[in-house]
Amino acid sequence: MLRFAPSPNGYLHIGHALSALANRQMADALDLPLTLRLEDIDRSRARPQFEAAIVDDMSWLGIGWTPPMRRQSEHMAAYQAAMDGLRARNLVYPSFSTRREIASTLRDPGVARDPDGAPLFPGDEHIIGIEETQRRRRTDAPAAWRLSMTAAASTCEDLAVTVTDAAGVPRSTLSTDPLAWGDVVLARKDTPTSYHLSVVVDDAVQSISHVVRGADLLAATAVHKVLQSLLGLPTPLYHHHRLILGADGRKLSKSNGAASLKALRENGVSAADVLQKISAFTAGPAR
Ligand code: GLU
Repeated sequence: MLRFAPSPNGYLHIGHALSALANRQMADALDLPLTLRLEDIDRSRARPQFEAAIVDDMSWLGIGWTPPMRRQSEHMAAYQAAMDGLRARNLVYPSFSTRREIASTLRDPGVARDPDGAPLFPGDEHIIGIEETQRRRRTDAPAAWRLSMTAAASTCEDLAVTVTDAAGVPRSTLSTDPLAWGDVVLARKDTPTSYHLSVVVDDAVQSISHVVRGADLLAATAVHKVLQSLLGLPTPLYHHHRLILGADGRKLSKSNGAASLKALRENGVSAADVLQKISAFTAGPAR
């Protein structure tokens, strides 16, 4: 089983169409079903109109998928159960610093950063101080929950994942480096889960055998591998397709002017035009 897993936080653009097509092509090559998963845990950003547009975009492109569609927001109990297991094993800890406090303390451009460019979390005591950390703990202040990455990675015997080519044929082994991420957030103050936790739980619950997604998520595979190992979940095979870059050389986003599929459609661009443009990107090096 494969999955296309967009977040209904905005309208999809041509980069998402590429991911959907790469999934469809591998599913066809392997004769496996492709399902649609809405990664809608961020309730402040998910909107029904974006969800409806995803379904419209898929049918406009002619990219079929097998129902039912899974909405992550309907499965919070499953993520909470996984978190409870990690808490019981002391592999996660509450973290009280706010995003703003972290950003304002770790402003120095020379500070150690994770593969996404965010500062590595040094511990609350280095952000808000020991006394304030203790005060927040005593008063049960709202906390995010972070994975103790060094402890977690040390329990993981095998940090390698198998990567396939675009047709799903295993081609190589990728050794992952979870320590590069530091103590990632697994549950937020206002949401009992995070992208990393939900994605590994769902990939297992949905029996996803092949994960096809953009190269921007390649490094995150390290976190997913550790979580699969901790939670006793199987590790799928991975394929990370090339990204379509914007004129500024960065991955497509609304902020660098990527037009939504909806806007292209409304402006008379045909699905065939879009498919032709993206099909050059679906083949490519296996990563
Ligand atoms: N929801 C993620 C995104 O829209 C994709 C997650 C994944 O494929 O693992 O970028």
